[in-house]
Amino acid sequence: MSGSWFRDPAPPPPAPAAALPATGAAATVPGVRCPQCSALDDKVVDSRAAEDGVAIRRRRECLACGRRFTTYERLEEVPFVVVKRSGEREVFDRRKVAGGLSAAGKNRPIAEQRWGAVAAEIEEELRLEGAEVTSERVGRAVLARLRDLDEVTYLRFASVYKGFTDAGDFQREVGLLIKQSAPKSA
Ligand SMILES: [Zn+2]
Repeated sequence: MSGSWFRDPAPPPPAPAAALPATGAAATVPGVRCPQCSALDDKVVDSRAAEDGVAIRRRRECLACGRRFTTYERLEEVPFVVVKRSGEREVFDRRKVAGGLSAAGKNRPIAEQRWGAVAAEIEEELRLEGAEVTSERVGRAVLARLRDLDEVTYLRFASVYKGFTDAGDFQREVGLLIKQSAPKSA
């Protein structure tokens, strides 16, 4: 049993990245290569919120040539991918999930904006599971939410997601719903 990954020693922890000074020079932001002379030495002459707080805009001045330029700091967008049954991959689209929820919840007493929030919760939950998720997993996550939220919407969504073909399918699903929501003491 050579090479068992149970016995192999854990790889050494990665060397810590050079830390920025915590005090004193804390206002120093690492240099960005000057677009004019390529020097890495600059000073930040102005920092302010931009794009409605989504980014920080920094005005920098190259210490070598004096050229001024601007950088933006933004949250890194980590891609999140859905793998469809066909094997096709596409970027997870929260609006698509919200749209599916909204269609299934048509004329139900649930505010339209609630679906956007539910879709966001589902995305947050699924992102914890990795960078990729199957469409089947997305469907199950949606059903899990709907079961607690609204049974009619749940059944409508299940009918599409599970490809119901006749009343018997509905009957079975309703049976499952009733079983799941029955008091445990019964
Ligand atoms: Zn320069």
